[in-house]
Amino acid sequence: MPRPIEALIYPEALAHNLRRTRAHAPDARVWAVVKANAYGHGIERAYAGLQAADGFALLDLDEAQRVRALGWRGPILLLEGCFEARDLEACSRLNLWHTVHREAQIDWLAAHKTQTPHHVFLKMNSGMNRLGFRPGHFQHAWQRLSGLTQVESIALMTHLSDADGTRGIAHQLAVFEEATRGMPGERSLANSAATLRFAPNFETVRATGHEVGVAADWVRPGIMVYGSSPDFPEKTIADWGLRPAMSLRAEIIATQEVKAGEQVGYGSRFTADHDMRIGVIACGYADGYPRVVPCSGDDSTPVLINETRTRLVGRVSMDMITVDLTPAPEAQVGSVATLWGTSPGGAVLAIDEIAAAAGTVGYELMCALAARVPTRAV
Ligand SMILES: *Cc1c(COP(=O)(O)O)cnc(C)c1O
Repeated sequence: MPRPIEALIYPEALAHNLRRTRAHAPDARVWAVVKANAYGHGIERAYAGLQAADGFALLDLDEAQRVRALGWRGPILLLEGCFEARDLEACSRLNLWHTVHREAQIDWLAAHKTQTPHHVFLKMNSGMNRLGFRPGHFQHAWQRLSGLTQVESIALMTHLSDADGTRGIAHQLAVFEEATRGMPGERSLANSAATLRFAPNFETVRATGHEVGVAADWVRPGIMVYGSSPDFPEKTIADWGLRPAMSLRAEIIATQEVKAGEQVGYGSRFTADHDMRIGVIACGYADGYPRVVPCSGDDSTPVLINETRTRLVGRVSMDMITVDLTPAPEAQVGSVATLWGTSPGGAVLAIDEIAAAAGTVGYELMCALAARVPTRAV
């Protein structure tokens, strides 16, 4: 028998979450962002749930090739564009749309002998200072591109740094709107947080004096599609009506009767204050479960045993975690533990809770699911 741990991927949950995107941005087309192997879910596994998207956005030519191999004939967007001139050949061959965020990418296009003209997303650095042309250079970049026979269309895009936080998006919207006023072309601004928090409030945005609805022509949701809330703990996936697209489950492989005063695990980080039963679960940090999470006391990290919520007792080790079985007296070797996602009976433990316990975000945990965890779509 293989080690009893697995990750389950739910295409139906992906499809549901994609519908939530459309509910928030009914007039926009949707790039389903599937970079990083669909945020750790696996492009091939996720594809079944995401076919209602208008396009797929990702980073690697290899991943684009895989989406085409699945039979997708619609748009695919390279979010970081080409990394070197000859990537354009793959763009031509696979009919990939690509971001242009620096001058060299325009030079490469100008020298590229293409069969069919390219769809380009011209990126503005509207304040995040990662990728893109500064607002003052944006028009110039647009003019260079629009003079090229290699280019068929130019969409205007930017990325928002604080859509999930208190600073919000108004300052970047203002910069973008000002620098693109009167320019032709489709617009794309919103990630998940902007789509959920601001797209339905177009009127509010307008009231601040900006005419660009953040949903614009294309939204680019990633994390929400996978069932993690971009602004947890302010809003949970339940608040946003999202469903986990991944469950990480393992089984209890041993139990221990621990006496009051005894310790559990490396570093003796947990001391039992009463006689208790402990479940040992076949999941550890080598599976992608974060080692840094609290493992004793009132804020110890939650785990579902069957349908019951309990907590870690003792430090996360490479291959195992240990939990308090007091709330789940029926639990035994073979009982199912849900580390995040949905239990067999439908109880939800959001990945965001575990991520918060680890001081990180759901994105990082899903992307860090270890290769040794058998994963299947159900
Ligand atoms: C990753 C990415 C997104 C998706 O962001 P989420 O926060 O996961 O919704 C959108 N746009 C760009 C440019 C990205 O790189």
